[in-house]
Amino acid sequence: MIFPWLASTWRQLHQSLETRRPQAVLLSGVNGVGQRELAAHVGGWLLCDHPSPQGACGQCVGCTWVAAGTHPDYWVIEPEEGSRTIKVDTIRSRLADAPQTTHRSGLRVIVMGPMEALNVAASNALLKTLEEPTESTLFVLWTAAFARLLPTIISRCQRVRCAVTDESAALAWLVSEVPQLSALEARVLLCLADGGPLAAQEWYAAKGLALRGECMRQLRDLLVSRSWLDSQVCEEWVASHKGGRWLLVWISVLVDIERAYCGVPAAYWTHRDCEPQLRQIVGAWSVDRVRQALSRALEARRVLGVSSGINESLLWESLLNQL
Ligand SMILES: [Zn+2]
Repeated sequence: MIFPWLASTWRQLHQSLETRRPQAVLLSGVNGVGQRELAAHVGGWLLCDHPSPQGACGQCVGCTWVAAGTHPDYWVIEPEEGSRTIKVDTIRSRLADAPQTTHRSGLRVIVMGPMEALNVAASNALLKTLEEPTESTLFVLWTAAFARLLPTIISRCQRVRCAVTDESAALAWLVSEVPQLSALEARVLLCLADGGPLAAQEWYAAKGLALRGECMRQLRDLLVSRSWLDSQVCEEWVASHKGGRWLLVWISVLVDIERAYCGVPAAYWTHRDCEPQLRQIVGAWSVDRVRQALSRALEARRVLGVSSGINESLLWESLLNQL
């Protein structure tokens, strides 16, 4: 299945693959835009006995094996459950042992991602394979952090950008997946998720809207009536939005407050559904304080992006303490 906002991306990729088979394609885009699913779609199409411009037929032997996870020439390499990394040993053991010939005398397809899960050692191990291309193997790689990949890997791939080119299609999909959502909430979730519809769905499942509302209420209490934040809610907030997602919400709230100061209409805010709460915060805060808070939050995001093992709850608390 192709997500509606990626239909034209697939059409172009299909045409180019019909003309020329690169050694590797790299599907990149924001988290949850559907690059992983598109990678699987491409992989299935490549191994289908009766492929069409829409994709795999779903009926042939190749398709049946891919669907059952038993196709000997269809390899999926992802982080193991509970882990965020693809280990160098995994890359070495899978790729070094790859036989020259394939089981069905066709192509071997290796779908791998997210590429940012490879550390330098694992990336170098992959690079070694990419430097010795074989006609029988095609890599379909996917990433949500293109800027963090080794240039030497990027240069060996045909890059395909995955993006939501038609926001209304993404919103319609989101509302059809989560019928409880109003159109406004769907838009807020999509903004929070940086434009990735599948990530927006995850935000909803992780009670992102409810927690955001609670966070905003407490922030307003803190700024307007100087009451202190409930530390348990803070911890819960960080725990359910790990990996810095809580920080993205915080930054988006601050950006909205700054927008309000600059007279940007609420229709252009991320949290347009929280206009009354945000207006109250605006009244209690000077624009300089907002900008200082924003620059501290952006610095925290930078630190989170380049370091590991940071206690996110403590980071959040320190940001709040400096307000
Ligand atoms: Zn098929």
